Amino acid sequence: MNVGFLGLGAMGLPMARNLHKAGLLRAVWNRTAAKSVALAAELRCDAAATPAQLASQCEVMVICVSADVDVLNVVDALLPGIQPGALVIDCSTVSADTARTAAARLRTRQANFLDCPVSGGVEGAQKGTLAIMCGGSAEDFARAQPVLAAMGRTISLFGATGAGQATKATNQIMCAGIIRAVGEAMAFARAQHLPLEQVVETLGQGAGSSWYFVNRAPNMIRGSFPAGFRVRLHEKDLKICRDMAAASGVSLPVVDDVLREYAQLIAEGYGDEDISAIYRLKWRLFTDAPFRNPPSGEVFDLLRSARTIAIVGLSADRSRPSHGVARSLQQFGYRIIPVTPSAESILGERCVPTLAAAVASLPAGEHIDIVNVFRRPEHVGAIVDECLALQLPALWLQDGVVDESAARRARTAGVFTVMDRCIFRDRAALPT
Ligand code: NAP
Repeated sequence: MNVGFLGLGAMGLPMARNLHKAGLLRAVWNRTAAKSVALAAELRCDAAATPAQLASQCEVMVICVSADVDVLNVVDALLPGIQPGALVIDCSTVSADTARTAAARLRTRQANFLDCPVSGGVEGAQKGTLAIMCGGSAEDFARAQPVLAAMGRTISLFGATGAGQATKATNQIMCAGIIRAVGEAMAFARAQHLPLEQVVETLGQGAGSSWYFVNRAPNMIRGSFPAGFRVRLHEKDLKICRDMAAASGVSLPVVDDVLREYAQLIAEGYGDEDISAIYRLKWRLFTDAPFRNPPSGEVFDLLRSARTIAIVGLSADRSRPSHGVARSLQQFGYRIIPVTPSAESILGERCVPTLAAAVASLPAGEHIDIVNVFRRPEHVGAIVDECLALQLPALWLQDGVVDESAARRARTAGVFTVMDRCIFRDRAALPT
């Protein structure tokens, strides 16, 4: 059997390689000729100059190009060279209507057509383990078996022409819901400061797991989304799903919501990233959420267990609020460390210029439990950076030093952060 392959993109290239491994590949064609010339040289097959030239050499042709209009262009370009009885297998993801149009055009030359969209991503294409969803006649399906078996593992016929695309559309709706749920779940897990690798390892075995969770949650942990299944391509597929559902007078919430989120990702320049980039939007829900103080029970627990409090911006002037707070803290039994570069000592404690110096000054076994901040809002961002770098566990931003974005940053990085409340008042309110 002489097989030709048209469309050597992320999917098509490894699929063509697998046809070569099965001893079936005769010729390749790609719109950008450099790719087909390079592959033909590597595999020692023909690089056809046009689709028609490829059609004249092959009885079976596999297409894998981007979108509906591209498939129809390639089919039209095959027609002048196509032989009666030839079989065209289209593995692109397009609408069922496009499949039917392509089949009708090929019929005018006594050629046959199977719509065979695939699922399994670039990894599946490389490993030859794609799921292939077919539409067409049982006879053509049987004839295509050696070709499909070279590229995929689960190969099924779902009905007449277009049924393969309808099945693939079903799959794309599921992928949309799943990647969205995985993105939300991983953003939530991060906001809960869970050990994320362990979460994936354990929940990957659980009932909520999925291919996307196991294979794409690691992208979310790394914050890097290299192209596997690109946002732009899935958006194209979901528009097909939306239009197919609209033909039944229905709009599907998962499809509509994910399309809206993809539009945002594309507008922000992430259209060529893997669809796991949806995590960017989900994590932002947490980083952009208005700041809320932790529940009072947790605040009391912190105050009960704390011993040492570094006070950034503690004033030596007895009339200043920070001085009064520090005095009260001492009366309650806390040890205070004044982070005040301009003074030698305050309230009997030696001053240090920075938080790093405060950490360095601690005797073995003592830790800074809370950083209490009295600096102006414009200084708070740098103090948060220092707390994060020194891995200090709790930050207390006093009334009047409100920088909500810095407080959110500290909170999302796992620092127990309290804002806008007076530390000694809370200590006084502690139930005995
Ligand atoms: P891709 O990397 O962007 O490659 C697209 C291929 O189509 C390229 O070879 C491109 O040629 C060719 N092409 C585009 N428009 C064309 C036109 N008008 N005429 C001729 N050739 C044209 O895309 P892909 O990821 O391989 O996806 C291909 C198909 O598989 C799509 O329908 C996609 O939805 C589907 N699919 C993708 C995945 C995935 O994970 N990537 C999974 C399942 C299914 P040039 O080299 O000249 O640009």
